[in-house]
Amino acid sequence: MKRVKNYVLKKAQEISGKYEFRDHLKFLNEAQYYSKEKIHKIQLNKLKKLVKKARNIKFYSNYFKEKNIDPSDITSLDDLTLFPVMTKAIYRNHFPKNIINPKSAPKDLYLNSTSGSTGAPFKFYMSKKHRGYTAARVLSFYKWTGRDYNDPILRLWGAPNLDLKTKLFQKVIENVTLIDAFDLNQKNFEEHFGEIEGKDFSLLESYTSAAYEFAHLLKNNEKNLRIPSAILSGETLYDYQLQLIEDRFNTEIYNRYGCREFGAIAQECSEHKGLHITETDFIIEVVNDQNEVLSEGEKGNIIVTCLDNYSMPFIRYQIDDIGSLSKDICPCGRELIKLEFIEGRVSDMLYAPSGRHISLYYFALLFQGRSDYVHEFQVNQREDNLDIILKLVTTPKYNQKIEKEIISDIKEMDSSLKVEIENVNTIPREPSGKKKYLKKI
Ligand SMILES: [Zn+2]
Repeated sequence: MKRVKNYVLKKAQEISGKYEFRDHLKFLNEAQYYSKEKIHKIQLNKLKKLVKKARNIKFYSNYFKEKNIDPSDITSLDDLTLFPVMTKAIYRNHFPKNIINPKSAPKDLYLNSTSGSTGAPFKFYMSKKHRGYTAARVLSFYKWTGRDYNDPILRLWGAPNLDLKTKLFQKVIENVTLIDAFDLNQKNFEEHFGEIEGKDFSLLESYTSAAYEFAHLLKNNEKNLRIPSAILSGETLYDYQLQLIEDRFNTEIYNRYGCREFGAIAQECSEHKGLHITETDFIIEVVNDQNEVLSEGEKGNIIVTCLDNYSMPFIRYQIDDIGSLSKDICPCGRELIKLEFIEGRVSDMLYAPSGRHISLYYFALLFQGRSDYVHEFQVNQREDNLDIILKLVTTPKYNQKIEKEIISDIKEMDSSLKVEIENVNTIPREPSGKKKYLKKI
C-alpha cells in the first residue's frame, strides 16, 4: 500500500506541476508540533533568504538604497518592520516589471489573479514551489480533521472550468466528489443527493455559503448527511450558519482561512479556539491604520509575509482582512499562534450616514435567532446617499411583524441608517462562486 501511495503521489506531483509538494507535506506534518523557538528559527532563516532574493527586484533595490538597508541587516524577526506595509495599490503600480524577480525562469512564473469580488482583479505571480507548498498545506490541514490519506471528500466549490491537470490532482490525490456551488437548487437536489447518499465521505470542504445553502436544501427535503468533519472556507463563517450546517451534515466544523494569493494560511484544530497559522510558511502581523504593530488580542489589519514565493515576494502584504492574534497555549499541543476573527473582512464594512463604520457581522447577528423566517440576506448600500436595500430570502413563516422587528433592530444599530426591505428568491453567486453579503451599488 505504501509503495502504491508513493507512486501515486509522485505521479500526481509531476503531472500537476505542483513542485516539491510531497516533501513539503511531510515537513508540515512534523513542523506543526515544533516548539516556538524552532519555528522562529525557521522563519528567520527563510526571511533572510527571501530578503536576499528581493534585492534583485527593482522596487526593493530602490527601497533598500533609499533607506540604506542591506539584507544582512536582518538579524531578528523584529527587523521585518524595516519593510513597508504593501497594499494592493502599490503592487498594481509596480506590476509586473518592478515587482517580479527578474532572475525567475519564465517557467517558474505562474500568473494568477484574485476574482475581483472586492474590486478590480489583482494579478500576481506564484513560483512553482509556492504552488506546491500551497497544495501541501491544504492536504496537511485535511489531516487535522482526522481525514486519512485518500479518504473521500465532498467538495462544494465554485470551479466550473477546471483544467485537466487540476481534475487529475483532485481525483488521484484528493479523492474529491465535486458539486458546483452554482448548481445548488431544489430542482437538482435529488440528483445531487442521489450522487452522494451512501458514500462514506470523511470530509466536507465547502465555501461557507454553499454548505449553508445545501444544509437548507437538506432541511427542506427532510434529509440528513453524516460527514464527520467539515472545512469551511472562502467566506466569513457566521454563527447563524454554523448551527444548521452542523445539524444537517452531522459534522464538526473547522474554519479555515486563506486567500487566492497564498492558498490556505490558517485553520482551527479540534479545540476550535482560533485558527493556527502555518508559521513555518508565513509571518502574520496585525497593525493599526498607521501600520504600527499591535499586541496580542488587539484588532487590526492582517499583514502577511509569505516566506516561499521568490518569483514575486509578498513582504508585509496588507490582505484587507481584519483580525487579531492569540498566543494562548492550545491544549492540542501545537505552539503555532492563532488568528482570531472578530469582524471579518474590510470589504464587509459599510458606512452609516452618521459616519460610523458598521461591520456586516452585526447584520449577520440580526438573523441569528430568526433562521425560521429568513434564509439569507444581502445588504445593498447605495454609494450616493448610503441608503440600504436589504434583500432577504424568506421562508413561508416570514411576516410583517418580523419585518418591523428587523427594521427596528437596524435603527437601533445606527439611527441614521435608512433601510428598505426587498424579498428575493435567491442571492446570486459572484463569478468566483462565492456569495457577497454586502454590495455597494
Ligand atoms: Zn490547537
